[in-house]
Amino acid sequence: MTSPAQEGLAVGIDLGGTQVRAALVDGSGQVLARAAQRTDAVGGPYAVLQQIQQLVAETTQGMAYRDLRGVGVSAPGPLDAQAGVILGIPTLAGWVDVPLVAWLQQALGLPVTLENDGIAAAIGEWRFGAGRGLSDFVYVTVSTGIGGGVIADGRVLRGRGQLAGHIGHMTIAPDGAVCSCGNPGCWEAQASGTALGQIARQRAASTPGSLLAAYGETLSAREVMAAARTGDTLALELVEHEAHLLGIGIVNLLHLYSPQTVVVGGGVAQGFDLLQPGIDQHVRTRALPPFRCVPVVAAQLGQNSGLVGAASLVLAQEAHRPLAHALPA
Ligand SMILES: [Zn+2]
Repeated sequence: MTSPAQEGLAVGIDLGGTQVRAALVDGSGQVLARAAQRTDAVGGPYAVLQQIQQLVAETTQGMAYRDLRGVGVSAPGPLDAQAGVILGIPTLAGWVDVPLVAWLQQALGLPVTLENDGIAAAIGEWRFGAGRGLSDFVYVTVSTGIGGGVIADGRVLRGRGQLAGHIGHMTIAPDGAVCSCGNPGCWEAQASGTALGQIARQRAASTPGSLLAAYGETLSAREVMAAARTGDTLALELVEHEAHLLGIGIVNLLHLYSPQTVVVGGGVAQGFDLLQPGIDQHVRTRALPPFRCVPVVAAQLGQNSGLVGAASLVLAQEAHRPLAHALPA
């Protein structure tokens, strides 16, 4: 292990469907500066490339670039991390077979790495958060969809084509709601923040006495969690249902990967304290006896897991090539 000072600094980029976020991160996983822009979802890859350039310049403003090791990008897939190519992002126009790493390296004059967003967040939690020191854990992100990453036997589980760990697409209800992938009953289609919002809107429309009824079509998972904290009956029922669905998926993950811990992040995890009793109840009753003691905990880096994980991929690379030139404005 090298010291944080030797490891230098890197910029992590989290390319999402609604926001592109950037953070300057040091070798101990601390975020030193951050910036964000609304993702140009219709302008095509080149417009987003320019956004990334601006964000890198913004987060490194005023610093000497001697110690800047490079830029790590976390992006939704499918993507080929080794080749540095994004194969497709369904929510962003024109993102098919985009050689993002080659483009960015040329534009920035810095080493660039690319990683699947679920795996990048898993690596962030592994190195600096709730998975620190563990050889086996599963990271689950519950937000617009459900994604994650698996650390097994002390390394990132990648699988054929680096496609392992698409945990949101395991079927938990054969006749359930249809997923964005086309299959009925994927975990993501049942238990993501999006799914929770949809169920809440249906239930609230027929429950005029609930606090949730006032939100109409704007009702989302966030309001469900807030109303549950005030003791709203419908909101508490919805939280219990969500914990039930998350518990089913998490028990599957315990049986598949035998992790030491399951770490839950993403937007819905902001209500993790409300969900945890229901999830734990499922683990204690549904899991095979040897798996019942495995803790399910909240991510420690919050919304930064992916940013820190992406940056740490650059910092962990062996070759330290200081780059003295300035970044483009
Ligand atoms: Zn699916």
